[in-house]
Amino acid sequence: MPSRLLDVRGVTKTYDASPTPLDVLKGVALELGEGEAVAVVGPSGCGKSTLLNLIGALDRPTAGSIAFDGRQLESLSPAELARFRNRYVGLVFQLHHLLPQCTAIENVLVPTLVNRDAHAPRERARALLERVGLAGRMDTRPGQLSGGERQRVAVVRALINGPRLLLADEPTGALNEEGAQDLMRLLRELNRDEGMALLVVTHSTAMAEEMDRVLELHNGVLVPRRREA
Ligand code: ADP
Ligand code: MG
Repeated sequence: MPSRLLDVRGVTKTYDASPTPLDVLKGVALELGEGEAVAVVGPSGCGKSTLLNLIGALDRPTAGSIAFDGRQLESLSPAELARFRNRYVGLVFQLHHLLPQCTAIENVLVPTLVNRDAHAPRERARALLERVGLAGRMDTRPGQLSGGERQRVAVVRALINGPRLLLADEPTGALNEEGAQDLMRLLRELNRDEGMALLVVTHSTAMAEEMDRVLELHNGVLVPRRREA
């Protein structure tokens, strides 16, 4: 068992909604080892994005605890939380959220602007962009890139500060089948090469099968995926 990176215990999330509050997560438990790759599957609206947002410290649980490297996220100050989001986790979403007026490499460098420990960020950005097959596209703006290329830029941006965990929320959702397969392979290769853990939400059975484990969010809790007969 790899050493533990992430420990989620008894996490619940209730949204204020009318007429009644919405209990989305009802006691989620999840342990993730250093460098491990895990897929989370489940029907639309079951709470997958909610869970990733809690782990990425974009939102706070209603109850329960999330510990990263033995430190409880709820005990961190706002400044420490900002640092956690910048250094330790990388986030990739279904939509790339790149800045349209900036080139690929400028987009990748954005997270390094607030990272005083960033070492030779431009060299790392170049190396990573080359690594994902974008050597010739570094000075291109997102509007001139294909959907798959934009997602690769978004992945490199998420990795630029060397996170220990990459959170990917349906990263292939806006790509065609071939683009989806390429991105899935790339994420898995980067997980192995860079050594960061990977937690990926996906609708794709093929993508899920590539990971070390597949978990299903079902009725507000995470369970090992039931095998289809
Ligand atoms: P998934 O990613 O699995 O499709 P989500 O986590 O986005 O599911 O949403 C789970 C449920 O919570 C949905 O019913 C959604 O409408 C609701 N929801 C998500 N975010 C909010 C919010 N900020 N306020 C109220 N309800 C929300
Ligand atoms: Mg979602």
